[in-house]
Amino acid sequence: MKASSQHQETLLDLSRIDLQLRRNQRLIADIEAGAEVQAARQNLLVNSEQLLSVRNDLDALQLELRRAETDLELVEGRIEKDQVRIQQSSSQKDIQGMQNELQSLLKRKGELEEAEIVLLDRVQLLNEKLSVIQIEREELQKKLAVLENEQTAGLAKLNSGQQLLRENRARDLQNLSPELAEHYEKLFAKGIGVGKLSGLVCDACGMTLSGDSLDSVRNTPMDELAHCGECGAILVR
Ligand SMILES: [Zn+2]
Repeated sequence: MKASSQHQETLLDLSRIDLQLRRNQRLIADIEAGAEVQAARQNLLVNSEQLLSVRNDLDALQLELRRAETDLELVEGRIEKDQVRIQQSSSQKDIQGMQNELQSLLKRKGELEEAEIVLLDRVQLLNEKLSVIQIEREELQKKLAVLENEQTAGLAKLNSGQQLLRENRARDLQNLSPELAEHYEKLFAKGIGVGKLSGLVCDACGMTLSGDSLDSVRNTPMDELAHCGECGAILVR
């Protein structure tokens, strides 16, 4: 097929554009899949679950603490009453009975106070745990935002690059004769490109031409398309 050297250079440019378009398309797919973004989202999800779990534990503990406080107030109220009654009573037997009750109330009061201290310690520990999770959460959110911004910016850059490449591709195709353009498209659809012959090497496949392939290329006039005997690429000399 006839092709001026200018057309042959255009074919070479066209195939470079197509290779770049394919490479970029793979990069776009990778960025869209966004393994890092997915991992960051997963980490944030785990953090949310931890946060919820600690908050639930804290709520339950606060409830337990309020109950303990109420119990303590009741016991303290009864102690006060008993003390007043002991002072007002004149029956030795009643006083003895109330003193016994007072003893067990004081014991109960001590137990409740101890339980309250244990609960307060647990609340403090959980509050510390909560603030660690919240700090971690802020960091994870920031990291995710950075990754999402990078993803968006990366995609925008690649997509505008693709747009430019497609425009250049269309321009190259218009500069070719319809026959050459069709020939190129057919070959490219089969995965066959255009190579530059440097020395005896086809840069589309990297093979050194020899024997019949070399003779065939050498016997092809410069204004006609030569093909690589190894990979079938159009060879631009
Ligand atoms: Zn080749």
